[in-house]
Amino acid sequence: MGKPKLAYYLAGGCAGCDIAIVDLADYLVDVLNAVEVVFFAPTLADVKYKDLEELPDGSIDVGFFSGNVRNTEHEHIAKVMRAKCKILIAFGICASCGGIKGLVNLHDNKEILEKAYKETFSTDNPDGVLPSPKVVIDGKYELELPELTPARALNQVVSVDYYIGGCPPHYEHIKRAMEALLSGQLPPKGSWITMGHAVCDVCPRNPIKRGRKKTMVKDVKRTIDLPIPEDECLLEAGYLCFGPVTQGDCGARCPRVNMPCRGCGGPIPGVKDFGLKAMSAIGGVLEEIDLADKVIDPVHLFYRYTLPVSLLKPIEKKD
Ligand code: SF4
Ligand code: SF4
Ligand code: SF4
Repeated sequence: MGKPKLAYYLAGGCAGCDIAIVDLADYLVDVLNAVEVVFFAPTLADVKYKDLEELPDGSIDVGFFSGNVRNTEHEHIAKVMRAKCKILIAFGICASCGGIKGLVNLHDNKEILEKAYKETFSTDNPDGVLPSPKVVIDGKYELELPELTPARALNQVVSVDYYIGGCPPHYEHIKRAMEALLSGQLPPKGSWITMGHAVCDVCPRNPIKRGRKKTMVKDVKRTIDLPIPEDECLLEAGYLCFGPVTQGDCGARCPRVNMPCRGCGGPIPGVKDFGLKAMSAIGGVLEEIDLADKVIDPVHLFYRYTLPVSLLKPIEKKD
């Protein structure tokens, strides 16, 4: 038997997930010796889409898809990857839940293009030219751009076998996931590949680990409200930390450096809507319900990484 074949595609993402693979450092050498990389686009290899399209269906053992699905090109390659890969993994929170760039769904595409290409302070576009799906250059060269779609998680386009959280996934967790893949020790299809702990479970600030009960939250603060306590539970201190409802495969990286968890690890198992669960968890520990009024911009806070897969559907704008 030959080495397992691996493919990787970056769609609507920032390439941070690709960098996280490089963060595997010396273990990356072991991975590259153990697999045959047949496609890695667009960041690592000079490959063309037809290289992937021409492979027989089901001929790739594992496919990693990072970034969300934000245009017709992403959608096409998602379908090609699904056809070619025996196992398809949503890699990182953009692919798994839409990610931070899924917040784009709060606006329509016209509004976004007008803002980006005409209205920003640094824009120099006197003719007000906007990107167009078809452009003819010199009257003879026809160029095509993919069309924007709403931001979607991968499973809103094709079926997904496994999910890996993180923005980006932490390199130690990627290593564990790679070991599981190479050894075939995988959870049931449709699962997250996770240690199964919440961020609070692995957080050194957890009051329970320090031998005392949790206390109610007496104030709501923002991270600009200094000083942030060095060692107590951030949530108890009023900084809205999503550690109770977030998978802790990162090892509680943010609370360890004085920042509240924002939920990039993805929802703990069994949660259908991260934002609703986070609101419920936070609401349940506020000493006074009026404290909820101090939460500024709740949509961006609670749905920072998961808006496209929320059970709450966007309200359609009326003219
Ligand atoms: S999950 Fe984060 S690091 Fe990965 S592509 Fe999305 S924004 Fe970038
Ligand atoms: S709420 Fe945040 S700071 Fe508190 S124990 Fe959980 S992860 Fe740590
Ligand atoms: S602590 Fe939360 S926001 Fe920070 S890396 Fe971990 S899961 Fe992501």
